[in-house]
Amino acid sequence: MDEQQFDRLKKVSAKSFNDQKALIKKVLAGRDMPCQQCGTSIRVVLPEDKATTGLYCAKGCTNIALDFVL
Ligand SMILES: [Zn+2]
Repeated sequence: MDEQQFDRLKKVSAKSFNDQKALIKKVLAGRDMPCQQCGTSIRVVLPEDKATTGLYCAKGCTNIALDFVL
């Protein structure tokens, strides 16, 4: 990987990380946010059953663990 490719990769991952943080904030604030891939609502799943707390859509294509945020 040359330096230019690395720079581009850094920018892309920073952007998607920020997008993810913005999405998490909206969902935690009670906003109804559709999954970008399947369009079903994204829900917050709390770890009653010791599953990882996270944001999940009905089909599972959105799957964001929250442990790195909280
Ligand atoms: Zn989905």
